[in-house]
Amino acid sequence: MDQKLVVFGLDGATYTILNPLMNENRIPFIKKVCEEGVKAISKSVYPPVTAPNWFALATGLNPGQTGAHDFFWYQEDYKAKPVTSYKIKGKCFWDTMGEQGLKSIIFNYPLLYPAYKINGETVCGIGGIKDRRLTYPESLLGELDKQTGGYEIQISYMDKKYEDNPERFFKDLRKHWEKKKEAIRHQFKKEWNLFFAVISITDFMQHYSWRYLDEKHNQYTLNENAQEEFKRIWENIDKFLASLVNEESNVLFISDHGFGAHTHQFYTNIWLKNQGYLKEKKSTTNLLKKTGKKILNKTGIQSTQLKQKIKKKSGVIDVVDKINTEKSKAFSPIHGTGQGAIFVNEKLAKVDGLIEEMREYGSEKKINFDFKKTQEIYQGSYVKQMPQILFTVNNFQSTVHSKQLTGEVFKKNTQINHTGSHRMEGIFMAKGPNIKNKKIKQISILDVTPTILEYFNIKPENKLDGSRLDIWK
Ligand SMILES: [Zn+2]
Repeated sequence: MDQKLVVFGLDGATYTILNPLMNENRIPFIKKVCEEGVKAISKSVYPPVTAPNWFALATGLNPGQTGAHDFFWYQEDYKAKPVTSYKIKGKCFWDTMGEQGLKSIIFNYPLLYPAYKINGETVCGIGGIKDRRLTYPESLLGELDKQTGGYEIQISYMDKKYEDNPERFFKDLRKHWEKKKEAIRHQFKKEWNLFFAVISITDFMQHYSWRYLDEKHNQYTLNENAQEEFKRIWENIDKFLASLVNEESNVLFISDHGFGAHTHQFYTNIWLKNQGYLKEKKSTTNLLKKTGKKILNKTGIQSTQLKQKIKKKSGVIDVVDKINTEKSKAFSPIHGTGQGAIFVNEKLAKVDGLIEEMREYGSEKKINFDFKKTQEIYQGSYVKQMPQILFTVNNFQSTVHSKQLTGEVFKKNTQINHTGSHRMEGIFMAKGPNIKNKKIKQISILDVTPTILEYFNIKPENKLDGSRLDIWK
């Protein structure tokens, strides 16, 4: 089969950013796609976070079936383990296509690590480690290194060196993007039926730059250079993607979630502790500290040395190491999303009671909580391993944190490099000789897999949670 389809994944792309850029005529390619093809909002699966959404997109299955509602999954002792390609349950569309002899090139796909064998090639994006398991085939990493002068997976917008330094941030981002472009060009030249490239810098720079873009933001800073740099990157992305394809190409654009302002922080475990839901563990570190101090007093060793030794021994501290999970009525595990997650010990407390109490607290403090029960929003065998409650604060404007057990429950955002956060409304756009020009208001991210499979005339083996979109001519 010589049928071909190009998909561009724009991490975090939102019409809040794209519409004004289209009006200013700075992204003419994307504008043309919207005008001559399909332009719709793509609703994310909840929560609007990279990990669950790229998995939902790849499989057409909800998080209860993929097993990923977060960047982490939880062991029986509630310790957080990162989600990897091993943990994706359900078949990705490139696997189904491969069985029919169709070749896919998948580039920079989040959490597709370790890379596994497909009919085609894969490169993992965020969540990957730069070693031989980053790409399939293994030798591809060497190719990309050669092409780009040292392949980079990502740049960390949270890095201290970028604090209040947009010049440095954008300089590094541009350099990083040049390497990604080289890699995409290289992969695009190969043989494929489906070419799927995810661009992550859109997410990085929106997290970083929101306070330069949104005058209503409580951390708004007037900086015309930063604003202009931000727009120029989008301009460059538009131009680059346009240069890859032509009038004969069928092209889809999709984002995993939308974006908006990040203005506050909520600390779930501090609230739970204050309300008597969470019981701390007498931690071994504390015990060691006490006995350690006695020894120190006798020997005169510097306590920092001991601290370092203890730290080295215990590795990274998971918040549940500090929580007595058996005696606590409820607690929040480590989560990688900016949204809340609570495990409720149903022998000791009721899910509804906890939600009610939190709501009351919210109305007192003028904090707006939106609660979802995983049992109600997901279907599948993995739901029982997930926290029973997920929630968002102030319509996603406040991020939610779980690592701290002491301090203020709710406060203004202190992360200067992280002033934008995710929303449920992403983008879906499509244009090409086989694509209709029609108005669709909204799709679900779950619809992408069945729609791609339909393009290649493949019937999915199992029932999917998404439906085929009527976009093909
Ligand atoms: Zn994302």
